[in-house]
Amino acid sequence: MAKISINLATGSLQKEEIIVGIDLGTTNSLVAFINPDKNPQVINDAGKGILVPSVVYFNNQNDVVVGNEAKEFLTTDPTNTIFSVKRLLGRSYNDVADHKAIFSYKIIDDDTDSLVKIQAGNRFYTPIELSAEILKELKARAEHALKTPVNRAVITVPAYFNDSQRQATRDAGKLAGLDVMRIVNEPTAASLAYGIGLDPSQQKTIAVYDLGGGTFDVSILQIQNGIFEVLATNGNTYLGGDDFDRLILNYWIEKNNLNLAEVAEDNILMQTLRLKAESAKKALSTQNLFNEQVGEIWCTLDKQTFEQLIAAKVEETITACKNALADASLTSNDIDEVILVGGSTRTPFVKQAVENFFGKTPQDNINPDEVVALGAAIQADVLAGNRSDILLLDVTPLSLGIETMGGLMDVIIARNSKVPTKAGRQYTTSLDGQINMKISVYQGERDLVKENRKLAEFDLKGIPAMPAGLPKVDINFLLNADGILTVQAIELRSGVKQEIEITPSYGLSDDTVEKMLIDSITHAKSDVEQRMLIEARSEGEQLLYTAERFIEKHAEHLTASEIAETKIHIEALKTALASQEKDAILKKADELNEFTRPFAERVMDAAISTAMKGKKIE
Ligand code: ADP
Ligand code: MG
Repeated sequence: MAKISINLATGSLQKEEIIVGIDLGTTNSLVAFINPDKNPQVINDAGKGILVPSVVYFNNQNDVVVGNEAKEFLTTDPTNTIFSVKRLLGRSYNDVADHKAIFSYKIIDDDTDSLVKIQAGNRFYTPIELSAEILKELKARAEHALKTPVNRAVITVPAYFNDSQRQATRDAGKLAGLDVMRIVNEPTAASLAYGIGLDPSQQKTIAVYDLGGGTFDVSILQIQNGIFEVLATNGNTYLGGDDFDRLILNYWIEKNNLNLAEVAEDNILMQTLRLKAESAKKALSTQNLFNEQVGEIWCTLDKQTFEQLIAAKVEETITACKNALADASLTSNDIDEVILVGGSTRTPFVKQAVENFFGKTPQDNINPDEVVALGAAIQADVLAGNRSDILLLDVTPLSLGIETMGGLMDVIIARNSKVPTKAGRQYTTSLDGQINMKISVYQGERDLVKENRKLAEFDLKGIPAMPAGLPKVDINFLLNADGILTVQAIELRSGVKQEIEITPSYGLSDDTVEKMLIDSITHAKSDVEQRMLIEARSEGEQLLYTAERFIEKHAEHLTASEIAETKIHIEALKTALASQEKDAILKKADELNEFTRPFAERVMDAAISTAMKGKKIE
């Protein structure tokens, strides 16, 4: 594999460049690098601290602040202070609707499967843009501390992240001006930090227990020939250290004979008590008693009581460990090492529970909230080719994907993926009665296919005529060790299938690869922006189509003024679409949606009562 780095300022290639490792966390994020002594080290920029709270705040001029500074606004301006954005990354509204209550900011409910958006002030943000703000902050801190431009990074994600969540993480990196060399699983990074998996002759089965601020996961990994395979993962994406804080807070409220609902009305008091609860929890990791006061409220907690409070939550994590082992068809005896990750594993009671369950002392001598970033830095160093002792597996130099709506590139196998590899995704038709689907295969890093290299095109024919959105077409890419790509398309309802073979490297020189990579980096920001505009347009157009058909079809359920007002919203959306302004389109689409939602419910109710009447007659 050719190793290429690009100086963004000059566009020229340079040889030596630091690649950083980034842990983009739900609660905290941080960045690490390999220091001149060849050891991984976390970056602490001029005393700002190592952990950057994953919080983004927008003031009314849409200026952005990130980290500790943003965290302050959680109490004073909660609707414009975005936390836990990682939970929304690559997710649709339907994915997160059940947990809507935990978010104090506005998540746009457009009732669809398209990716969620967040409103702050009068602007709409995608989780990708918000995560990019966190990444930009980390990049800036790294550049400031290392006194050198930082353009390349390895970013970690939970092992359970799906394809769309991984792609969203990659896009966030790109938007932040980073060339994302690889997306690495958090448990894999943690093992690398402990040196596990660096020796190719080593074979091990390990358990990584990760209890963070708001999420818990456990992964069972098998490491062989330097390859990490995730055998099983389990957990709860709504369980973490925040729950411990909440339990302490409730306990204090009870002990002080207060009423939770009353205290909850006072935002500032609530937040102060929550922070106090977190300090109590942290203090009890090293001492036996915490005793302070907030105004008249006594905040007293001893270690034993704390452990009783959290016992059920901790037990839940142990059940998940049991399930993960069972899924991997293993018992605790098969586990060679247990690794602790996440700030909440600093609680001795948690550590002890894990030790009791696995029957061995877990590895905990690296700070659990830093271990993932440190491992990511090691992975980056391996990719940079700085570790001659480690064999670099063959990787594909450019991403492979297909064209989707609006001429966008949908990456199926990402650049730098190990070969052989396979990946796939499901698509559907966009027109009613569509019986053919054109599949165009491209190679490259740009967001618009027209800037990439076209490899092949074929038609999947004979899809049974169905309404748009109903057919399910699986497209699978298989890239074998010889670099031959098989693309297979199959419509699942009918079984119609079509397959082709391509050699993506054919006619591709190193110079071309270099040029394609440079282009993708110089255009990264405008590419992502164009993509988001195209996505907003597609959504807007789809809504326009549905709304227009709706008022035609169901005119009898609507009053003349409702129809007239809907038409005004429709016109406004059309104007926005013509303006090519992403935020205007999203805003008008949201307004049209909000306005017509009650009508859709009314029609539904009418349909149900007609159906009931029908029953009575029969
Ligand atoms: P994430 O991976 O979710 O971004 P972290 O790994 O940074 O989060 O973990 C954050 C959590 O760790 C918070 O709930 C925090 O209160 C908790 N935590 C940090 N330090 C300690 C400590 N000394 N004792 C107990 N919990 C701690
Ligand atoms: Mg974490």
